[in-house]
Amino acid sequence: MRNLCLDQTEISHFTSKSQKIRVMSESWTPTEIVCAACGSQLQRSVANSKVLDFRCVNCTAEYELKSKSGKFTKKVTDGGYSAMMTRLAESNSPHFFFMSYDMARLYSERFFPGT
Ligand SMILES: [Zn+2]
Repeated sequence: MRNLCLDQTEISHFTSKSQKIRVMSESWTPTEIVCAACGSQLQRSVANSKVLDFRCVNCTAEYELKSKSGKFTKKVTDGGYSAMMTRLAESNSPHFFFMSYDMARLYSERFFPGT
């Protein structure tokens, strides 16, 4: 059974909520989620990679994680528009994971793949 609780052990030195959730969600995903294409393990990308958070160790599918407190609406906020547009135009554009979480209780509410 998937553990939905987000681990807080690595966030003590972060002050902003967005930094905390980024660290917790990027730590949680490769331990609880597998590649949507082949079911193999995911590996975190090098920190600050543009539009790439995880790569499958088997088929090399690439994933970008979008997380949000509460339910997703029709729009998903993105930090770098030009970097995202450049990445999407490439032949190996990433798949997306969408994660909604409850910040008060620190657990993942929903997690689903998208393209
Ligand atoms: Zn794979």
